[in-house]
Amino acid sequence: MTVSSKPFSRPFHPPQPGAALHCGTVSLEALAKQFGTPLYVYSADQILERLALFQAAFAERDRLICYAVKANSALAILKLLAAHGAGFDIVSGGELERVLAAAPEAAERVVFSGVGKTAAEIDLALNAGILSFNVESEGELDLLAARAQKLRKHARFAIRVNPDVFAETHPYISTGLHEHKFGVAMKTALAMYKRAASSKWLEAHGISVHIGSQIASAEPFGAALERVHKLVRQLAKAGVEIRVIDAGGGLGIDYYNRSFDPGKRVQAYAKAVNAALDGFSGKLLIEPGRFLVAQAGALVTRVVNVKRSGKKTFVITDAAMNDLIRPALYQAHHEIVPVKPRSGKARAVDVVGPVCETGDFFARDRELAPVEPGDLVALLDAGAYGMAQSSNYNTRPRPAEVLVEGRTARLIRRRETIADLLAPEMI
Ligand SMILES: *Cc1c(COP(=O)(O)O)cnc(C)c1O
Repeated sequence: MTVSSKPFSRPFHPPQPGAALHCGTVSLEALAKQFGTPLYVYSADQILERLALFQAAFAERDRLICYAVKANSALAILKLLAAHGAGFDIVSGGELERVLAAAPEAAERVVFSGVGKTAAEIDLALNAGILSFNVESEGELDLLAARAQKLRKHARFAIRVNPDVFAETHPYISTGLHEHKFGVAMKTALAMYKRAASSKWLEAHGISVHIGSQIASAEPFGAALERVHKLVRQLAKAGVEIRVIDAGGGLGIDYYNRSFDPGKRVQAYAKAVNAALDGFSGKLLIEPGRFLVAQAGALVTRVVNVKRSGKKTFVITDAAMNDLIRPALYQAHHEIVPVKPRSGKARAVDVVGPVCETGDFFARDRELAPVEPGDLVALLDAGAYGMAQSSNYNTRPRPAEVLVEGRTARLIRRRETIADLLAPEMI
């Protein structure tokens, strides 16, 4: 691994070649000693660097970057992003409560997505005065109108259209085809906007689209937004004026290539978006999740045992699939790096957790530098959909989380205890 010339572009690196891994200038060994393992470590500097990339790429436009809370919903990260002007894309009432707890002033920068919003969730959002509801069906629009009337609150909404565009990604995280449960067909949208005009509590605020997650190429974003832009022009002819286009999230990172250039990828994305929206002078919303936080985070774990079984070697870590499920769920790849390198040849190993499932692995037949019990290893690019998708499976308390800001590190979530896990239960 080489030391990056831009320190925050690669937050996890050794300060000198051959030295132990740091997050910025903070030693991961010191953090593991202080806070224990498994431990999620995030770089605040990198998160802000990524936010700035989007701000700069769309500098010419009236815009709002709505961070997708589900990628990593740590309160401290929400507060950090809100303080730097971000809005939020939420998919549940619980996520709204998180935004309200971390940055109540950001409520007016919240958009609410999701196919199954309940009346209680809609009421919560109406009372909080969020920016817009991304409506995903005719039934939901009726429910929104009814709740708005009941609470005597105006509801701004965008219809999430399904552009029927194929995006190359894992089938579990592709959303932009008619066969998926998300959004409404383009031709239904016009009728919905017209119908909404008859409710004095509904205000057509925009149109939204979200085609999936971990999409590397800018092309499908451009294709989807061309269709959206065309629909906006058709709506204008029909007397429905759309002032906001929400382009959704989904821009992917490169989990394999350590020399991946995030700036270039954002520029290619912005170019495709801007070309598709050429002539549109309203406001642009985007909802990046993964791209802002994935590479800012690592899961630091200690090797419990190295087990040889026939031809195979298993490196057993104190982190497991309940802490980071992406490899088990999506066959996702995470780079695994010993925190303090030992000399010796790399060899193919399986890196696995202690959970009683064969699916509990982080890597199979991976070339890994030598490690011994007690060593620390870091699973890189774990800042998105890591802690957010963690569970207590096998009655395992979830990891602690640390945020590194400049030269300092602070605990932003303490490690769970068994008492925390047992608390809601009765015998
Ligand atoms: C999940 C989601 C996002 C964020 O996706 P990323 O791939 O993390 O950027 C944005 N918008 C909506 C509606 C989502 O469901």
